[in-house]
Amino acid sequence: MTLMHSSRRAPLRSLAAAAVLVLAAWPALSGCAATVDDFKDDGKLHVTAAFYPLEYLATRIGGRYVDVSDLTRPGTEPHDLELAPRRIAALTHSDVIVYLRGMQPAVDDAVAQSGVRRTVDAAALVPLEDHGTEVDGRDRTTGDNGSGGRPETAGADPHIWLDPVRYAAVAAGVGRALEAADPAHAAYYAAGTARLTARLHALDAEFAAGLRGRTTDTFLTTHAAFGYLAERYGLVEEAINGIDAESEPSAARMRALQDLARREHVTTVFFETLVSDRTARTFAGDLHLRTDVLDPIEGITAASRGTDYFEVQHANLRALQKALGVRT
Ligand SMILES: [Zn+2]
Repeated sequence: MTLMHSSRRAPLRSLAAAAVLVLAAWPALSGCAATVDDFKDDGKLHVTAAFYPLEYLATRIGGRYVDVSDLTRPGTEPHDLELAPRRIAALTHSDVIVYLRGMQPAVDDAVAQSGVRRTVDAAALVPLEDHGTEVDGRDRTTGDNGSGGRPETAGADPHIWLDPVRYAAVAAGVGRALEAADPAHAAYYAAGTARLTARLHALDAEFAAGLRGRTTDTFLTTHAAFGYLAERYGLVEEAINGIDAESEPSAARMRALQDLARREHVTTVFFETLVSDRTARTFAGDLHLRTDVLDPIEGITAASRGTDYFEVQHANLRALQKALGVRT
């Protein structure tokens, strides 16, 4: 910068150049009340995604023709996301918003307020299920919640992206929305969608094959995010509530989990990437179980076992194989 400024010896010419720039930018700005730093007319489709798995789809499918911004910063908890007024205001300048109704109440409200016409609700593409209640006909003897709190799974489970097949259906919906919003590049978006859904169906086949020969179907997790994945591959997710600093599971609940672990040959308690290690270890120690990470892929950080959805899903598959006794 310093060099450029010192070499500029024709201030009048610079002024003229600046005037040309302003004139060139004027038609783009006149159509929108945005401030200059909110609105860049880069010719790209501006897509706002609510959190990582949706941002990943928009980025992969949209490629060079889209500019994707993520409402949830990596490493922040997406479910309880709060949006700053500035962020909500900026949302109105999106060409397309991709979100998942019921996952983030603050985003649902902001999308409704934004007035943006082109929105993709992932929950409208894949019906949500309630994994807090009996869904597979099994007797859930540990289903009583001794801690008295509401199980995290109560109500519609939003974690559809952890099942590659459902995630592929969301990808197809995102692809259709980009095609409709930017018909000039429809063929490009269609090709991107086809590539991505093919990879997701290949991942589905890897999970199905990779989980064959397991010695148990049951796994314990602290974040009840894997209900759709479990359902897809015939597994049973037992979610443990109240594993945090504020609340501890009751003695009765601990006994029930111990019984379940013995009966179902459970080896491992799965924790999220960012959870307190000490609490996790103490809890698993009490149950005489190992700990490992099963990542709900709600954001990619330096601590993630991979740099994108596919890498982390492969790490999840390896962790499940180990926990369920698959010889690899
Ligand atoms: Zn979650």
